[in-house]
Amino acid sequence: MSAPIVIAGAGVGGLTAALSLARAGKRALVLERAPKIEEVGAGFQIAPNAGRILAGLGLEEALAPVALEPQAINIRRGRDGAILARLGLSDSRARWGAPFRVYHRADLQQALLQAALAHDAIEVRVNSRVGDFDDGAGVVRLRVHTPEGVEEAEAIGLVGADGLRSAVRGHLLPTERDAPIYAGLTAWRALVPAELAPAPLRARESNLWMLPGAHVVHYPLRDGGVINVVVIVSEPPRQSEGSAILSLDGPELARSLDRLRPADELRALIEAGAAWRHWPLFARPSLQRWSRGAVTLLGDAAHPMVPFLAQGAAQAIEDAEALGRAFLQLGASVETAFASYEKRRIVRAAKVVHASRRQGAYFHLGGASALARDLAIRALGGRGMLARNAWLYRK
Ligand SMILES: Cc1cc2nc3c(=O)[nH]c(=O)nc-3n(C[C@H](O)[C@H](O)[C@H](O)COP(=O)(O)OP(=O)(O)OC[C@H]3O[C@@H](n4cnc5c(N)ncnc54)[C@H](O)[C@@H]3O)c2cc1C
Repeated sequence: MSAPIVIAGAGVGGLTAALSLARAGKRALVLERAPKIEEVGAGFQIAPNAGRILAGLGLEEALAPVALEPQAINIRRGRDGAILARLGLSDSRARWGAPFRVYHRADLQQALLQAALAHDAIEVRVNSRVGDFDDGAGVVRLRVHTPEGVEEAEAIGLVGADGLRSAVRGHLLPTERDAPIYAGLTAWRALVPAELAPAPLRARESNLWMLPGAHVVHYPLRDGGVINVVVIVSEPPRQSEGSAILSLDGPELARSLDRLRPADELRALIEAGAAWRHWPLFARPSLQRWSRGAVTLLGDAAHPMVPFLAQGAAQAIEDAEALGRAFLQLGASVETAFASYEKRRIVRAAKVVHASRRQGAYFHLGGASALARDLAIRALGGRGMLARNAWLYRK
């Protein structure tokens, strides 16, 4: 049997890539450094551009029962909760070919993992950290770090789907001076039991609240019993935390935001979170290229982005689809398939990275600029605001 294509990382990007490669008739070996494949405690909005691809990979039956389809996104003024625009989502299937959905991360990850494990052409190994590698003459030799020691593996290609701090990226592009840099923004994340949230915020809708220098996004998950809340704050880097995960309780986080004068309902929602986890956000410069020979990058490893368009995982899924499709060209070698995958994806991914960054600045405006923004959003209305993202969602 010929060597497989190795995928470093079993995140959403790596697992979707394995499914997409298998559909194109390729064998995939997914190597994950963690001892267990799991995503804990947070939600994912999966926009139609990614939902269409997941359905096309045959995942609809597994995903539909664990998805929640919000009926609308409410854009709110943070200081009083006024709804500036209500973006109706109920016609998403007709407009974009797939619904807007939200998932508990663990549910999406499990659906992808089970689909991968069920496929004859895919093998998934945990406790396997991809280290350095050599490539040439049609073979990639890589060092894999396991609890038993370092093993050598051979592959016909290597896909670095190993996230923001990608080791594959570091070895592929050793001269790029592009270590992740703090984006000046911190996310605080918590899951709030719905019964503890103010009643008007329990609807099956997504909400975005804008405050000067901060914004909050929340939506219900699973059967609506829990609300995923993300608070994003512009702030300088914190010095003292080291590698420990910083956590605050609800009243502590709410107090730290009082200077922004959030609406009472919003404050109550934040207070109801028992344990808020701190998540500093990082950026890396866009790459001019992300493939060399039989090695390529995918997802956050190739193009990490701030999450303000909720497109990081969606773009990883788009990458995965394009990667598999590149092998459907008649007689494509790994090298030509990787080059054509990169060509198909690099411009769009960079555009989404930049648009995400701009979106964050827009949400965080203060003073007269915020007033002008709010008037513009009201004037555009829900349909106009959705139309602004047509380039992201369209078929
Ligand atoms: C606050 C926040 C909210 C977000 N919300 C959304 C959203 O609503 N919708 C959306 O589309 N995106 C969202 N994103 C972005 C999204 O989380 C990421 O873009 C997405 O998870 C990237 O997937 P990935 O598979 O590329 O990388 P990752 O999910 O980071 O997976 C990388 C995997 O590789 C493994 N790994 C690392 N190094 C190695 C190695 N050397 N060898 C083997 N394995 C390795 C890791 O353990 C991990 O399992 C959000 C991000 C944040 C921070």
